[in-house]
Amino acid sequence: AKAWVLKKHFEGFPKTSDFDLKKIELPKLKDGEVLLESVFLSVDPYMRPYSQRDMKEGDIMIGTQVARIIESKNPAFVVGAFVVANSGWRTHFVSNGKDLHSLPSSWPESLPKSLALGTVGMPGLTAYFGLLEVCKVKPGETVLVNAAAGAVGSVVGQLAKIGGCKVVGSAGSDEKVAYLKKIGFDEAFNYKTVTSLKEALHKASPDGYDCFFDNVGGEFASVAIHQMKKYGRIAVCGAISQYNDSVPQKGPYVQFPMILKELQMEGFIVHRWNNRREEGQKALLKWVLEGKIKYHEQITEGFENMPAAFIGMLKGENLGKAIVKV
Ligand code: NDP
Repeated sequence: AKAWVLKKHFEGFPKTSDFDLKKIELPKLKDGEVLLESVFLSVDPYMRPYSQRDMKEGDIMIGTQVARIIESKNPAFVVGAFVVANSGWRTHFVSNGKDLHSLPSSWPESLPKSLALGTVGMPGLTAYFGLLEVCKVKPGETVLVNAAAGAVGSVVGQLAKIGGCKVVGSAGSDEKVAYLKKIGFDEAFNYKTVTSLKEALHKASPDGYDCFFDNVGGEFASVAIHQMKKYGRIAVCGAISQYNDSVPQKGPYVQFPMILKELQMEGFIVHRWNNRREEGQKALLKWVLEGKIKYHEQITEGFENMPAAFIGMLKGENLGKAIVKV
């Protein structure tokens, strides 16, 4: 088996030389265990801050995959079945089955299984619970989402449309902006080319925003907070504009606009709703099958390209979910 390890803690933006591809020996299967091979692996933004906080140099990179069971000594798992696992950047691994999630039983053969890592997986669930439980969106409201053409953001916007809201999204290229319009966003703009973020946000919704689903943090969030409506809600989902900073960014500070507009701002981690995973996946799968949620995947071929796919995603090279196909 092969695995990617963190060779050196990232300094600033990750580099391919910070990773090492290692051969690892797999243990012999014991009763109750299964042998799996990764088919699709996910590269996600959280891996960047997680590696800094919770990993030692030499550790296998954290991550999830869709994997196929190729040998089984566990009656609950048949050879050939696909599951979602949380076994890091590895081609093969052994599991006792406790950490494996089967795909929803209604998953049609024609639907890519990689969606279990994106629109119908953790990022889709982040959008679902963040919007419903943190933003608490209501029909007729205006929702703002940044990194809108990515895995989480693209689902946030489409769920908000399903919920009867007006949706404004920002993304980092004209191609992404065109995609957002295609999938039903009411307004979208390229935050890299607008002359003034403040004006772009104002133009897209002159009355302001009821909900702001923040994937980016930093300067974007500091500007957007001033355009919230009274009693607006901000779901703090991610801060990708800050993950690669060696020196923490300084304010501006949020207290004043929060008081004046009586805002609510809540950080969240999708795992809070692990006990409702099935409900979320079922709903997302249904909307995908009905064509109400469209998806795009940025598929990089080859396990050897995991670091490049990860770095590319952090740079914004992905439209939709960044996936590696082994
Ligand atoms: P995406 O698919 O959106 O990929 C990341 C995107 O972030 C890039 O494509 C890029 O798009 C954008 N980006 C990168 N750098 C910057 C920057 N400096 N400023 C603005 N945008 C930037 O990733 P996900 O959908 O998986 O994740 C989106 C966010 O949600 C992340 O912050 C992530 O950490 C967070 N998250 C939080 C979870 C939680 O439980 N709280 C769970 C899952 C994700 P562009 O071209 O538009 O710049």
